[in-house]
Amino acid sequence: MNKPSPIKENDHLLQVLHLKTHYPVKGGFFKRTLGYVKAVDDVSFEIKKGETLGLVGESGCGKSTTGRTIMRLVNPTSGQIFFQGRDISKIKGKQLRGIRRNLQMVFQDPYASLNPMQRVGDMIAEPIYNFMKKSKQEMKDEVMELLNKVGLQQEAYNQYAHEFSGGQRQRIGIARALALRPKLIIADEPVSALDVSVQSQVLNLLKQLQKEFDLTFLFIAHNLSVVKHISDRIGVMYLGHIVEMANKKDLYNTPLHPYTQALISSIPHPDPRKKAERIILQGDVPSPINPPAGCPFHSRCPQAKLECLTVKPSLKEVRESHKVACHLY
Ligand code: SF4
Repeated sequence: MNKPSPIKENDHLLQVLHLKTHYPVKGGFFKRTLGYVKAVDDVSFEIKKGETLGLVGESGCGKSTTGRTIMRLVNPTSGQIFFQGRDISKIKGKQLRGIRRNLQMVFQDPYASLNPMQRVGDMIAEPIYNFMKKSKQEMKDEVMELLNKVGLQQEAYNQYAHEFSGGQRQRIGIARALALRPKLIIADEPVSALDVSVQSQVLNLLKQLQKEFDLTFLFIAHNLSVVKHISDRIGVMYLGHIVEMANKKDLYNTPLHPYTQALISSIPHPDPRKKAERIILQGDVPSPINPPAGCPFHSRCPQAKLECLTVKPSLKEVRESHKVACHLY
């Protein structure tokens, strides 16, 4: 297997090396560990400063767990997470709190992630209050500026989350995530709960804020069109593994992995006459408790060969900046 090596501080903002997050499955009278859900199983990638890396895949493929593990909301089972050149995979307490200033998350359900009892102004000010020594007036000025940056009226300061639409709530969530001027934002399905008409507004806002605040994004979504809209590079996940990683253009124009080919064939084309034949995958995604031997995709792959049943393919660069985990290459 190609072993990626740790990077120097200035090369990338984030590098993830052989990350595994396995959850124990307990059962029986004594709540013994009966097995493990291999939610993330040997994932490696890196994100450059200012870049947006999209992670895409069906629900349960491990993309959200990858984001939550990088945020250290979940502890990794093994592997390393380098942020600004420093391994943050095992840090705790004060050190972890310090790192969280620079690493923020935007969640799928803006309503669930906002406190319904708190005024919007207090919600956005909370991280500033916790991390920065600022006067009341300075905090208020800061919050007003953030509201303006995310396209909300100043009146929002004294209102509650339930008084806003889904798109506006997501703008509040984004303002809160920006409050500490983080370097990396992990956006986990940030627009999937929103109407299609509002989705592009929020995506365009994120793009605009990325330039203004010098942000780097890990953008997690199941919708390929959404990921295409915002990402520079895209990693495709299946059953806890990254099976393909390439820049946006190469991934959508020349997908190499049979799974990516099937996903892309399902995107509606604006001109139905130009639409390539849709590849329908047979069967369900296998259980991450008992993943298949060999290639994790072999039970559904239309091109599987004998070798695929026993030998797991590693993620290899087969074209410039285009990696794939498949024995066909
Ligand atoms: Fe299909 Fe084999 Fe490639 Fe896996 S390694 S995607 S089973 S061809």
